[in-house]
Amino acid sequence: MSTAERLALRDEGFDPARAKKDFPILQNTGLIFLDSAASAQKPQCVIDAIADCYSRDYANIHRGVYELSARATAKFEAARKTAQLFIGAAEAREIVFVRNTTEAINLVASTYGRQNVGPGDEVLITEMEHHSNIVPWQMLCEDKGAALRVAPMDDRGALMLDEFKKLLNPRTKIVAVAHISNALGTINPVEEIIRLAHAQGAVVAIDGAQAIPHQRVDVASLDCDFYALSGHKVFGPTGVGVLYGKAALLESMPPYQGGGSMIETVRFEKSTYADIPQRFEAGTPDIGGVAGFAAALDYVSDLGLDAIERHERELLAYATDALAGVPGLRLIGTAPQKAAVISFELEGVHPHDVGSILDHEGIAVRTGHHCAQPVMEHFGVPATVRASFALYNTREDIDALVRALQTVRELFK
Ligand code: PMP
Repeated sequence: MSTAERLALRDEGFDPARAKKDFPILQNTGLIFLDSAASAQKPQCVIDAIADCYSRDYANIHRGVYELSARATAKFEAARKTAQLFIGAAEAREIVFVRNTTEAINLVASTYGRQNVGPGDEVLITEMEHHSNIVPWQMLCEDKGAALRVAPMDDRGALMLDEFKKLLNPRTKIVAVAHISNALGTINPVEEIIRLAHAQGAVVAIDGAQAIPHQRVDVASLDCDFYALSGHKVFGPTGVGVLYGKAALLESMPPYQGGGSMIETVRFEKSTYADIPQRFEAGTPDIGGVAGFAAALDYVSDLGLDAIERHERELLAYATDALAGVPGLRLIGTAPQKAAVISFELEGVHPHDVGSILDHEGIAVRTGHHCAQPVMEHFGVPATVRASFALYNTREDIDALVRALQTVRELFK
């Protein structure tokens, strides 16, 4: 679809079957792809933007005096602006390009965290975090003699806000929470979490990896201090992500990695560092990837996040109803506020067997612990089957999933 067609679609009403045609891999393989929470597929416009960058606009950025390098730099900085507007940041310099959510979180833990967390301090996370929003904080706490506190969830997979409140205290320096859980689909009440944490003087880092492709995010109105996301989850290429940080906080932070592009002056006695965001962007970035990332954000913006969210909410309701008809299927994660992620187990069948049989039927789902082992522990399962939906999924995809699960049921009778 052209930009004009995408914009028209927004007015006419979202049509996932038309959007699906934008994704060559879904046409070429015929696969029913229900693993977008792991990584989303890429529309043609993203693939084209990467190819265009390398065929027309490619040179290293920020350095060359020649026209091509200036053009590449301008495109790279335009992508930063696109990302800024997409997440509602106040300024483009609050957007730091990183590799992915994992790197964004590690950056915050290693810079802001090392500078501000000391012995006896606390970092508060939740029980439903992805490993990448656990381990960096654990490493920081071990290093600094601080304590990692974990707010529990209930048996629906919803955060127990009262327990969270009890764990917050003046020693809490950082609160790090997933906007949406990848293993359960739970949407956390981040506005409330941010308000409560700020009242105790803690800064809040939101892991937005799962939120960004599915709902409108406005970091300025959320008032979060940091927000991490991965381009590959929002139909962009792998290798590009964003760390959003409030300018005043980023300015107060030391560099993450040393090298080219992040300095002002280098002397053997002492070097000085560049302003934000370059201070956190050492080395040559993924220039082609950033071009693809900006095209992905434009693609999603043209289709309209409100329309995408509505479509996915309908899909979730449809799928939840349809799966209830599969004998022995137990949903894992039934929080009242949920995104289009459905984790489940099928009585008497190992999740990996379910996944393999579904693959045989042309359906890709994820099986495993989804990098959230504490979640698995909570529900007493080693793994789940997870079907996750994106803008290109249709009711027919879900009907096929249910039919394939009936086949699994028959095989394991
Ligand atoms: N947090 C959440 C909630 C995720 O779903 C993921 C990816 N599965 C990550 C963090 C890590 O993202 P990445 O692998 O792109 O760094």
